[in-house]
Amino acid sequence: MGDGSKISRRAFGAGAAGLAALGATRASAKPAKPKTIATGKPFILTTWEFGPGANAIGWPMLASGASAIDAVETAINHVELLGDYWVGAGGVPNEVGETTLDAMIMWGPTHDAGAVGCLKRVKRAISVARKVMEETQHSLIVGDDATRFAARMGFTETSLTSVVSQQAWDKWAATGAKTTAFDPEPIASADKLVGHDTVGSIALDAAGNLCVGCSTNGREFKIPGRVGDSPIIGAGAYCDQAVGAAVATGNGDVMMRFLPTYHVVELMRGGMEPQAAAEATIQRIVDAGYQIDGGIAVIRRDGVHGGAKTGWADTPFSYSVQTATGNVTVPVS
Ligand code: ASP
Repeated sequence: MGDGSKISRRAFGAGAAGLAALGATRASAKPAKPKTIATGKPFILTTWEFGPGANAIGWPMLASGASAIDAVETAINHVELLGDYWVGAGGVPNEVGETTLDAMIMWGPTHDAGAVGCLKRVKRAISVARKVMEETQHSLIVGDDATRFAARMGFTETSLTSVVSQQAWDKWAATGAKTTAFDPEPIASADKLVGHDTVGSIALDAAGNLCVGCSTNGREFKIPGRVGDSPIIGAGAYCDQAVGAAVATGNGDVMMRFLPTYHVVELMRGGMEPQAAAEATIQRIVDAGYQIDGGIAVIRRDGVHGGAKTGWADTPFSYSVQTATGNVTVPVS
């Protein structure tokens, strides 16, 4: 090996000083060759009850000509900072009481993606994911190193624990309960997860470009280090500039095994209608015997959308789509 490789290995092993020495980020590490398809009218789709509020933030941006990536990031930031228990800071503690975040973003024109898993002490996970996508050649950075990366990109470190998440953990820990993560797979009987959410947004901008993103704090009382489906490309979210995009939510430990958002977009590429494609994708998981709560929302680039779920008998899963004609919320049954 030549001297160059030694220098670069020393630099990478040199901790904080070495990272600082690595210095400024490149304007764009990945060459972007936009594949713009100038058809389709702008829309923004967001999952769960966050939909109308997030769309109300993202839609005016799209209507005034902003990029789909800015609309998706801003809509998801809005939800990440709401203080909701199931998404973002201040919710869902892990087994040792810490909140950690998973997020990803994918940009249609370049088929580029960025994601963070088990991100600690940084609130706007989707924005850190965007930095992974735009500033590096990497697609996924995890754990404490994701936090270090975020700091390097200028994000502030802060506790993700709130009074609510602390109380939830205190109450759970006081019962002596154990994480359900060591339970048998949810095949012979239904999973016992009490709740878990992800916010997912998909936007098409006036220039015809598609973007998808998602963000979550994952599964309650998870084993530290657990990364769910959300930051896995094709699992938590996926988009294809020529076809459409999809977002997922639910028991990510199982759902990621089926790459449901990739699968549903590929079914649409083959000509299946969005609603039929969503149902076929969820049916795959059911047919494999899994008894989980899970859902997907999908939208083709012409604005035709669909959704499907399994489980969640008592939880109304929905998604909302905003276009120039207003916002529609679609209950998924
Ligand atoms: N899919 C997320 C996870 O498992 C949680 C959810 O959407 O309900 O991390």
